[in-house]
This record gives sequence, C-alpha cells and structure tokens, in this order.
Amino acid sequence: MTIKAEYIWIDGTEPTPLLRSKTKIISKGGSVEDLPIWGFDGSSTNQAPGKASDCVLRPVFACPDPIRGGDHLLVLSEVLLTDMTPHPTNTRAQLLAVAEQYADHESLFGLEQEYTLFKGSRPLGFPESGGFPGPQGPYYCGVGNDDIYGRPLVEAHLDACLRAGLSISGINGEVMPGQWEFQVGPLSPIEVSDQLWMARWLLHRIGEDFGISVTLDPKPVRGDWNGAGCHTNFSTKEMRESYDAVIKAAEALGKNTEEHIAGYGFGIEERLTGHHETAHYSQFSYGVSDRGASVRIPWQVAQEGKGYLEDRRPNANMDPYTVTRLIVKTCCAAL
Ligand code: ADP
Ligand code: MN
Ligand code: MN
Ligand code: MN
Repeated sequence: MTIKAEYIWIDGTEPTPLLRSKTKIISKGGSVEDLPIWGFDGSSTNQAPGKASDCVLRPVFACPDPIRGGDHLLVLSEVLLTDMTPHPTNTRAQLLAVAEQYADHESLFGLEQEYTLFKGSRPLGFPESGGFPGPQGPYYCGVGNDDIYGRPLVEAHLDACLRAGLSISGINGEVMPGQWEFQVGPLSPIEVSDQLWMARWLLHRIGEDFGISVTLDPKPVRGDWNGAGCHTNFSTKEMRESYDAVIKAAEALGKNTEEHIAGYGFGIEERLTGHHETAHYSQFSYGVSDRGASVRIPWQVAQEGKGYLEDRRPNANMDPYTVTRLIVKTCCAAL
C-alpha cells in the first residue's frame, strides 16, 4: 500500500522565508522517524548555488493530510546540508538546542496568528472599485454580511487543522476587515512552532481552492488600519506557580529588547508604531490588561497571582522557531 506524503519545508527567501512542498509516494506505516529523508534543488529556493544545489529534507513532524484524506500525510521537514548538519536557514535546530538547555523550566507557548485575506490586490471587504470600507469598529469578532469577509475559508482551515490533529485553541475575526486570527497551543516551544508552520501551510493551500491569497504581511494596508501580529503567550513552570516569576520574566524581556525586536519579523517598525494596539518598537513597557504595552499580563493572571504573559510585539510574519528561542533564552536565564 502506498500513500502520498507532502514534504513541507521553509525556504531561504529573504527577508521573510516562504513555505515550499512536494509530494513523495511512499509505502504506508511507521512513525516520523521511519519516514525517508529526501532532497530538493536548493538553487531554486535561495538555499544553495546552482553548482552544488542539493539540500536534504529530514522529516521532523508528520500528521494526517486533511486535504487528501485517507492515510496520506503532511510531513514537515527540516533542511540539512549534504553532510547532514543543519542548513544556515534551519532555525529549528537553533531552537532545539536552547529548548533542551532550559527543558527543566517546562516552557509553554500559545501563538495568536493573525493574517489577512486578499482577492487580487485588495483585502477582502475593501471595495473592488477602490476607496475604503467604513472605519474599524464593527469588524472584530463581528457577524453579518456587512462586516465579515472570508468566513467559509476560515472555517475550512479550522476544520482541516483539527482533522490534522493540530492543537488549535480558537479563531476570531480581527479589527481590520478581511483580517482573521487562529491560536495554536499551549504547547512546548518545538511543538507549537512545528504546528504553526503546518497550520500556515494549510491556510495557504486552502486559499488556492477558494481563489483567495493569504498574507502574513505585518502591515497590509497603510494608514488607519490595524497591522497583523502574532502575539506570543508564554509561561514556565515557575510562572504557572508564582506571580513573582511572571514579573521577573517581563522584566527580563525589558532588558533585551533589541535582539528580540530584530528577531520578531521583517517590517516590525511599520507595525509597532505606538498606535493600533501596539507599543512603539523603541520603547518597552509591561502592564496588567494593557493592550498598548509591549507585554500584557492578562487580568486573570494578576488576579490569580500566577499564569503567563503575552508578548504583543512579534509580527504575523515571524518565525516561531526564532521567537520562542529568544523568549526561552531571555526569560529562563533570569528565572
Ligand atoms: P487575546 O485575549 O490576547 O486575544 P487569545 O485567547 O487569542 O488571547 O490567545 C491566548 C493564547 O494563550 C491561547 O493560545 C492560549 O492557549 C494561550 N495560553 C493560555 N494559557 C497559557 C499558558 N499558561 N502559557 C502559555 N500560553 C497560554
Ligand atoms: Mn487573540
Ligand atoms: Mn488578535
Ligand atoms: Mn493577544
């Protein structure tokens, strides 16, 4: 019995990598360790020169393929050089080292992936003839034909993620028309990052069937329209037991802002303007319930005296391997 395995990887496009995939027919059965390594032409993905173009795909996370159904698989793979060491674009390998170093802190992440749907050159809900929809206000978590655009695609994506076994914790319509969010987690750093990349691939793939493009552009429309972020909720074992540890983690983030901002996604200066529910990228602040702060402590956390914090700075186009690595490193070193 053979199955279709869709090998998915992250390419070397700068400044923001793209997802790539191709299909391998393999014999059925086994776990992710039993899936064969494979290769691809790195000269077509900004990962190798033409004269030495071979790169290696090593499966790291597999799940049922909800689009093809049956026993078919989606196979997220990391990119290696032909000597089997991590390719320079392989940020997963860098996360793995840090996650293992601080494994005793039992870090958990919940990622809020925002994204924007486009038909042609216009976001869904923006008049095709030009001009703008009514100002922001009714769209966030809205209902009805005047305010909500793209729900069939969003529902199809949610169903696909659940059929794939991904830990989606919710979805919602966002502040700008045509903008949506799904959340993954809470999960360990590697799990949440692998699952977010898989969920992103499914979103782009399902967009094909609807004739709708998905963008993770952090500021898809200039002017008085919200950008798209990927708020990153984080806790350690200590933080889930003590409010002191939550504050310590927030303070630690405030002492290492430049490295974090540089790793939180291309174009972050366009989004973190200090308006539209953001804090300016050059200023760090944290506060309870404060959606204008860099880091928000949810009110339930302050009330219960334990829990997690929300780093509101990461862009929608961030690499979760990099963002979770930076947060684990900065916070766990201080705890
Ligand atoms: P917001 O109010 O900011 O829109 P969401 O409900 O969209 O919040 O997302 C909150 C995320 O935080 C969810 O993905 C949830 O699973 C995650 N989360 C909850 N508890 C924890 C925790 N202890 N550690 C890390 N993440 C958590
Ligand atoms: Mn949210
Ligand atoms: Mn949101
Ligand atoms: Mn949030």
